[in-house]
Amino acid sequence: MKTAQLLNYARDRWLPGDAVSLVELPSAIDGSPVALTGSGGLDFAGMATYAREVGGPALRRMTFHDRARMLKALGLAILARKEELYELNYATGCTRKDGWIDIEGGAGTLLSFSSKGRRELPDAHVLLDGQLEPLSKSGAFVGQHVFTSLQGVAVHINAYNFPVWGMLEKLAPTLLAGVPAIVKPASATAWLTEVAFRVMIEAGVLPPGAVQLVVGGVGDLFDHLTLQDIVSFTGSAATALKLQTHPVIARESVRFVAERDSLNASVLGPDAAPGTPEFDLFVREVVTEMTVKAGQKCTAIRRALAPAEHLDAVEAAIRDRLTKIIVGDPREKGTRMGALVNVGQREDVKKRIAEIAAAGARVVAGDPEASVGPDGGAFLQPVLLRADDPWACAAAHDVEPFGPVSTVMPYRDLDDAVKLANRGRGSLVLSLFTHSPEAARDFVLGAAAFHGRMLVIDRTNAQDSTGHGSPLPVLTHGGPGRAGGGEEMGGVRGVMHYMQRTAVQSSPGMIAAITDQYIPGGPKHEIGVHPFRCRMSELSIGDTLKTASRTVTLEDIEHFAHFTGDTFYAHMDEEAAKASPVFEGRVVHGYLILSFAAGLFVDPDPGPVLANTGLESLRFLTPLYPGDSMRVELTVRAKSLKSGDTGVVRWAVEIFNQNDEMVATYDLLTENVP
Ligand code: NAP
Repeated sequence: MKTAQLLNYARDRWLPGDAVSLVELPSAIDGSPVALTGSGGLDFAGMATYAREVGGPALRRMTFHDRARMLKALGLAILARKEELYELNYATGCTRKDGWIDIEGGAGTLLSFSSKGRRELPDAHVLLDGQLEPLSKSGAFVGQHVFTSLQGVAVHINAYNFPVWGMLEKLAPTLLAGVPAIVKPASATAWLTEVAFRVMIEAGVLPPGAVQLVVGGVGDLFDHLTLQDIVSFTGSAATALKLQTHPVIARESVRFVAERDSLNASVLGPDAAPGTPEFDLFVREVVTEMTVKAGQKCTAIRRALAPAEHLDAVEAAIRDRLTKIIVGDPREKGTRMGALVNVGQREDVKKRIAEIAAAGARVVAGDPEASVGPDGGAFLQPVLLRADDPWACAAAHDVEPFGPVSTVMPYRDLDDAVKLANRGRGSLVLSLFTHSPEAARDFVLGAAAFHGRMLVIDRTNAQDSTGHGSPLPVLTHGGPGRAGGGEEMGGVRGVMHYMQRTAVQSSPGMIAAITDQYIPGGPKHEIGVHPFRCRMSELSIGDTLKTASRTVTLEDIEHFAHFTGDTFYAHMDEEAAKASPVFEGRVVHGYLILSFAAGLFVDPDPGPVLANTGLESLRFLTPLYPGDSMRVELTVRAKSLKSGDTGVVRWAVEIFNQNDEMVATYDLLTENVP
């Protein structure tokens, strides 16, 4: 493989680092040079300014949906050129299967955020947070929380173990939020990140200044950060501490998201004796997590806890499976586990194994000193440690060997298991293998506050499980304490990290104008045509249909009650209804009100409105009595596109009585022709 010179991407230009900054990056397979990398000579202050002044405004001019479509194009561009990336992946020590998580998992994250963005965010620039808060009796003064894009730059500092996914899982929510980014991959595997980044630039869908790349140190970048910027860091606790305590971070209140290392645990439930499916599933998961990516995953299982009486069986079963793992050149078909990223990392892992052993554990499988794989490569046999006294062996809970290493340890009872799991002082993920709902409940309540994600696996869900070690774009990734206290992804939750929440107080009309969204009490406009006859693109937010009114009679109530079987006292028994603290007499069924509302606003013929897909936020506010009349105002509240050829219109439905009191309100969702 030819030694590549990696380039930085600054102010929309590819630039080499100056000669003195260049370092050689070795292949994990044989130590031969893969690339030269460096960022010396870059104008870091200028890059940050360019992001804020060029990238930010360009992204903020786009709506959430525009940006979501851009993410989709980026994800598809990565997939279209994935073979180039797989080729470069081997030199990081990874097998093709390992690379799949990184490369296709990364592209999938972009696609997932794209689809979430189009389904769950408005085609607008402002995101509403929660409902309108009434602040005055008349309703003329209200409060609404809104999210708007930060106006700074996101600095993404990534760990070496996911050169593609690590970049994309941060870029997806950042770009969707409308914030430009400077990406700084870990040097050790930067050749793969650089090409994935290049693929995105060459896709031609990113506005100028939206993304920049630093393949080396970040120079004086931190000195130039401001209150609108955000640092999102993934890596070791030691580096996080160094960066998080930079004086500018504290002085300017720069947001700092930290995803650090984590001593994740997996627990065999007290019920899961040898011979149960849960026992086998546990053993399989521990071995998978030890060996995928040679154990270089922040979410890998470092501590395997089992009931004391089953520890020997657990140890034997794991050892047995580990003997079947073929360690070697990741390009070879039969290889199950490749190399660590480089020899330095392997030596570090060996040191950590020695620390855990010195604290009272012993190696029960694998030999850290055994020579495996091609010469010059960073190969290591998977190593299983056993700590018989887990409370005495502090290092098993404190020291992270970032490689194919795990420690098995016994627990006495469930309470002891919870305490040992929490002894990791905060983790990214914990898995529990149990078929007992009681054990699951007690464990989750005892431990959830210490762990960012928890899987409860048993014979019924294991087939479908996404696995202990897989963070998912729709779920939050991050954990308290040792894990960094950060939170990433989690669908739209992750987007909000790159936005500012502001409480806006004003009239409904003003808030509608500010947010460009329909707000109850805000302006509505009647259009000369029934809105059900309009395609989604022809509808504007605030377009309204005001229906005729209809009187509801006692006969209607009787008919509905006998037709449906809903003969609840409040509709059928005058005396009982009167005696209740809620009604003055027999009232119209809420469901009848909804049905009559549909009868008032529906336009029946086939057209752009294809189907009613649901009601949300339904509230009955004022009882409707026989002889009262009702009318409906149906208003376009929001529109969004679905994947495929349809869209969703969210309608605000407000039902009033003859005195203009609101009887009921809800959101109606319809599937529409765009
Ligand atoms: P690391 O040594 O802490 O490096 C992380 C990143 O920080 C790299 O990009 C590194 O760049 C950069 N960096 C180091 N010193 C810096 C400085 N003074 N200023 C700015 N940037 C600096 O971690 P790693 O070895 O790459 O990754 C392994 C660790 O990451 C493990 O502990 C693992 O548990 C953790 N991890 C956590 C997560 C998570 O989501 N929580 C995910 C993956 C990995 P250079 O490479 O150029 O030095």
